[in-house]
Amino acid sequence: MDVVVDLGMCQGYGNCVAAAPDFFDLDDSGQVLLLKGTAKTEAEQAAVRDAIPVCPMSAIRLGE
Ligand code: SF4
Repeated sequence: MDVVVDLGMCQGYGNCVAAAPDFFDLDDSGQVLLLKGTAKTEAEQAAVRDAIPVCPMSAIRLGE
């Protein structure tokens, strides 16, 4: 499944980094940096699903 982040929405809260550090980091400007664009395993998808609801801007979603 594709991991999709709406960079226009991201306000750099960093909650996603805490929830799924394998997928998300913050860049020097404090915006989310997508480390992996695909969640292949169940565990990876679960990590991204943990990050989705903790993003205050609803900027993260799983695609196809
Ligand atoms: S939790 Fe949302 S707003 Fe915060 S850094 Fe991650 S994507 Fe951006």
